[in-house]
Amino acid sequence: MTKRELPALGIVEVQDLLRRHEVSPAEVLESLEERINAVDDKIGAYLAHDLAAALSEAEKADVNLPLGGIPIALKDLINVEGQQCTCGSKILAGYRAPYTATAIEKLRAHGAIPFGRTNMDEFAMGSSTENSSVQITRNPWDLSRVPGGSSGGAAAAVAADIAFGALGTDTGGSIRQPAALSGVVGFKPSYGRVSRFGLVAFASSLDQIGPLTKTVHDSALLMNAIAGHDPRDSTSLDAPIENYTKNFGRDLKGIRIGLPKEYIIEGLDPAVKTAVAASVKQLEALGAEIFEVSLPHTDYAVSVYYILATAEASANLARFDGVRYGHRADNIANLFDHYARTREEGFGAEVKRRIILGTYVLSSGYYDAYYLRAQKVRELIRRDFANAFEKVDALVSPTAPTPAFKLGEKTADPLQMYLADIFTIAANLAGICGISIPCGFADSESGKKLPIGLQLLGKALDEARILQIAHAYEQSTDWHKAQPPVRTERHTAGIDFDH
Ligand code: GLN
Repeated sequence: MTKRELPALGIVEVQDLLRRHEVSPAEVLESLEERINAVDDKIGAYLAHDLAAALSEAEKADVNLPLGGIPIALKDLINVEGQQCTCGSKILAGYRAPYTATAIEKLRAHGAIPFGRTNMDEFAMGSSTENSSVQITRNPWDLSRVPGGSSGGAAAAVAADIAFGALGTDTGGSIRQPAALSGVVGFKPSYGRVSRFGLVAFASSLDQIGPLTKTVHDSALLMNAIAGHDPRDSTSLDAPIENYTKNFGRDLKGIRIGLPKEYIIEGLDPAVKTAVAASVKQLEALGAEIFEVSLPHTDYAVSVYYILATAEASANLARFDGVRYGHRADNIANLFDHYARTREEGFGAEVKRRIILGTYVLSSGYYDAYYLRAQKVRELIRRDFANAFEKVDALVSPTAPTPAFKLGEKTADPLQMYLADIFTIAANLAGICGISIPCGFADSESGKKLPIGLQLLGKALDEARILQIAHAYEQSTDWHKAQPPVRTERHTAGIDFDH
C-alpha cells in the first residue's frame, strides 16, 4: 500500500489497515490532504479543511474503536466547535461554531475524526450545489456537470476519492440525489433516527443527517455511530439502536418489494428507466418478490414540500438578523435598515425566494389556503406509504429522473430544478428512510459515463432492512466499483510508504 493509493479505499478497508497498524491515523489524514490538494481545484468539493486540527485529534485516535482514526468530511451546516459553519451562505461567512452537534460527538465517540467542510447549496436549498455563495462544485464524472445537491460537495468528495465518507443532510433529497448524480451511496435515515442538535435547521420537520459513502457497508458503519436518541433534540426518537450490518449476507428470499406505478413518469430519462428496470430484475434474481403498488398522492408531493419547507425555512432563517451571527451591514441608519440590509446582502436569490414564499404561505388570509392544506395533503402522502408498507417491505424507484445535468442548465428555471427531487421528496414528507445506490450509467453526448442511482425506501425505523437489500444488490453488481476519470488520477506528488 502506498500513501497515494490510500484515498481510493473505503472506510472498511482503511479501518482494517489501521487496526493492523499498517498505517497510522496521521498517515491516513496526510494522504487525504495530499490528494485534496492535488485534485480539489478541479472539483471544488471542499470549503475548508484543517489538517493541523485533524492531526491533533489523530494523535489520540484509538484505532480499535469502530471508526477509530477514520476522517469524515462534513457538509458545512453541521456545527463542530471551533470550525467554520457557513451553510454555503455569505451571511455566515467568518462564523465559528461555539458547540458541537450530537451526531459529531457520536462520530468522535466511535473514533472518527471530522475533517473538512464540504460545499453545499446555500442553507441546503437546491439540487445542484450551484446555489452556494462560495463556489461551484463539479461532478467528478464530467466536470461540465453538477454533482447534484444540496450535499453536492460531500457527494463529489466521496466520488473523487478525497473523502472516505461524509455526512450530509436530506430535507427533500439532498443526500440521495447528489449520491445518485455522483455515483456514490447516500442514506437518509427515518425522521428522528439521528439527532438534529447542532444541525443548522432548514425545514425542521423534514431535515435529517445521514451518510454519503463509497459502499453500503460504509454507510451502515456511519449509521451505527450517529443513530440514536438525544434528549437535546425533542424530535429524536427514543427507539433502540440496531447494528445496521446485522442483516448483511442474507439473501432476499421472502422480501417483498413494491414498484410505485406513479414513479414511471414522462420525462424519465430512457437510460434511467432501463437501468432501474434491470435493477428490479436483479433484485428478483436475488430472491425478492416484486409487486406493483400505488402511491396515489405522489403528484402533490413537490407542491406540498415547497409550501411546508419554505414556511419552516422562513421561520428558521429569521435568526440570521445580523445581531447574533455572521454578517452585519455597515453604516446602518436604523433598526429596520439593519435587518433589511444585513439580510439583503447576506442571503442569495434562492434563499430570499424561499423566505418570501414561506412568509406568504403562513400569512393570515393565506395560511388556511396553503399551509394548512399542505399539512393535510402531507398526511395523505404519509398514509399512501403506510398503505404500501402493509403489502411490501420496501419500495424501489429511480432516485432522480435524469443523470447529472450541465452546470447552468437549470439555474434560470427554479421549477425545473425543483423537479430533480420528484422521487425523493415524498420520503421526507412521510418521515421514512431511503437510500440511493449506484445502478448503472448513461452516456453523455461527449462520451462521458454518467452515474444512475437506484432508490430503495423503507418504513420508518426499518433502516436495517433497507441497508440489507441495498447491500445484497450492491454485492451482486459492479456498479460501485466503477471509477470516475478524476478518481483514477492518483499520480501526483505521492510519497510512498515503506510498508
Ligand atoms: N432540492 C430540495 C430543495 O431545494 C431538497 C433540498 C434538501 O434536501 N436539503 O429544497
